[in-house]
Amino acid sequence: MSGRRVLVVEDERTIAESVAARLRAEGFSVDIAGDGPGAVEAARVHQPDVVVLDVMLPGFDGLEVCRRIQADRPVPVLMLTARDDETDLLVGLAVGADDYLTKPFSLRELAARVHALLRRVDRAVSATQHTLRVGDLEINQAERRVRRSGVEAHLTPTEFDLLVHFAGRPRTVLPRERLVADVWGWADSAGARTVDSHVKALRRKLGADLIRTVHGVGYALEVGA
Ligand code: CA
Repeated sequence: MSGRRVLVVEDERTIAESVAARLRAEGFSVDIAGDGPGAVEAARVHQPDVVVLDVMLPGFDGLEVCRRIQADRPVPVLMLTARDDETDLLVGLAVGADDYLTKPFSLRELAARVHALLRRVDRAVSATQHTLRVGDLEINQAERRVRRSGVEAHLTPTEFDLLVHFAGRPRTVLPRERLVADVWGWADSAGARTVDSHVKALRRKLGADLIRTVHGVGYALEVGA
């Protein structure tokens, strides 16, 4: 975890300093901002991995800070609130914070929450960087590139999503209705023909033997081991 950067936004100097000291002791690089505009500027300059953000700030409040820094780039935010009911209110507003901590909090608890946020982000990143390999099929989810037997195929975004869905469940018969629901997010079965046309496109681009038709039911990915 060392080398990760945390921005602490808090106008009460003693709280800011003690939070910073604890996080530095945990191996983080820490920057401090004491008001809304300063926080947005510091986030832009230092590109933190996590932001610890007090709600009540001079300039503009933590909600506005959260909005502005998230507009620039997604960064996990741990929001500090004065009371439990303030937390409830913010959760209801869906301000885009990833976690909340009510004052007074222990520094141990705060450090644990920061570590947990970073773990969550790391997991999400490794999931998207994950390369799926099924038989001679190689799917790079980070770059959204597909190769079969080393030959790259150029898929549309929907074709790609459909292929990823198949590749996660090789040799399993997937009903068309379920594909419509899971890949397109449609509740009704009117999209069955859309599935057919996308399967046709995948066969054309990656080989006719790639997807087997199970008559009256759906499709299954059939790649050799
Ligand atoms: Ca404050």
